[in-house]
Amino acid sequence: MTDNIQSSMSADSSAGTPAVAAAEVAKVNLLGMPEAKLVAFFETLGEKRFRAVQVMKWIHQLGADSFDQMTNVSKDLRAKLEKIAEIRPPEVVKQLDSTDGTRKFLIRVSGGNVVETVYIPDGDRGTLCVSSQVGCSLDCSFCATGKQGFNRDLTAAEIIGQVWIAAKSFGQLQHGAERSVTNVVMMGMGEPLLNFDNVVDSMNLMMHDNCYGISKRRVTLSTSGVVPALDRLSQYTDACLAISLHAPNDALRNELVPINRKYPIAMLLDSAKRYIEALPDTHRKITIEYTLIDQVNDRPHHAHELAELLKDVPVKINLIPFNPFNLSNYKRVSNNALRRFQDILMQAGYITTVRTTRGDDIDAACGQLAGSVNDITRRSERHRARFDESQPVKILAQS
Ligand code: SAH
Ligand code: SF4
Repeated sequence: MTDNIQSSMSADSSAGTPAVAAAEVAKVNLLGMPEAKLVAFFETLGEKRFRAVQVMKWIHQLGADSFDQMTNVSKDLRAKLEKIAEIRPPEVVKQLDSTDGTRKFLIRVSGGNVVETVYIPDGDRGTLCVSSQVGCSLDCSFCATGKQGFNRDLTAAEIIGQVWIAAKSFGQLQHGAERSVTNVVMMGMGEPLLNFDNVVDSMNLMMHDNCYGISKRRVTLSTSGVVPALDRLSQYTDACLAISLHAPNDALRNELVPINRKYPIAMLLDSAKRYIEALPDTHRKITIEYTLIDQVNDRPHHAHELAELLKDVPVKINLIPFNPFNLSNYKRVSNNALRRFQDILMQAGYITTVRTTRGDDIDAACGQLAGSVNDITRRSERHRARFDESQPVKILAQS
């Protein structure tokens, strides 16, 4: 993004023939630009700060995708902007609507890859599950995205573009319309903390009063535990935090979430605690996500161990029944085991919710977000080869 601005600006000033030079360089996409950069951009055009605010509101509150629509911006400035800038959301390839109201968008990003964004309505709340990367490099053993390997980070325009697309599809981006996207969770494809700058810029646009104005208590970043990035997070945002834990001890977590071998549980929980403590408001809790897999991490002793592990951490726990997918031999937790697990945690005093499966008819549930990824790590091929050879798939022994 910064590079784009610089290239078009330097082309303008050094070439001497701004119009020609501007036509030759890529236009700057204003969609994902954070406020400070947008202000700087308008200042280089000799425009005041309030122009940046006007344009921000046009894009994110009124869904404008051309400068023509910006009727309170002078014609001259609009013409100037037209030459050097654009508002370019990623392309929606398909929109799928579930019978339960869940809506899934297949979104094509440059390079031909497709990522997924899911909208889940629930009473007066509408939660958007947003992707941060094309694929994921972390290869958690129960995750469809991880099995696809990694292609690239999404740009800030591609991340905030998912909110823009969803809000617009529900008619939110027009004068006086009701808000449909009330919550955002960074729980789609990818590991948000491995795309730090673009994710932080996008989350800050989601929460910005001149954009979507979503409360910081309703925007959640979910991470599998990239500790050095988590250590920096509170300097840049005050959104909610969810930790994908999935196991109560390092031996099991090393198998399910391989990044644990680098940043083990104690280190991760310490870092998460520091994040929460750095926030100005008190009483915030970390959400612990725990995907329950039949016979793997769903036994009563796992629940007891988890209760003990978390006793000094301010948390609420969200249990997620594993969603089966091709290439995985894991099974969904049984209803009995799920109930028992929840009971043990609740008796230990934890707020413990269960994520209900939504949008099953359109494959929109967690862990089914697979899009179509040109895997530059070739992980999916290697994985398929393993299956073709019919090698036994490792199912973790119960301890
Ligand atoms: N990379 C981030 C965010 C995306 S994954 C993270 O790992 O937190 C979002 C959530 O979906 C995580 O908690 C993840 O563990 C869960 N998930 C992934 N695959 C799943 C599956 N097959 N069934 C149920 N939950 C799954
Ligand atoms: Fe990546 Fe999250 Fe899936 Fe793990 S669970 S592979 S970190 S997207």
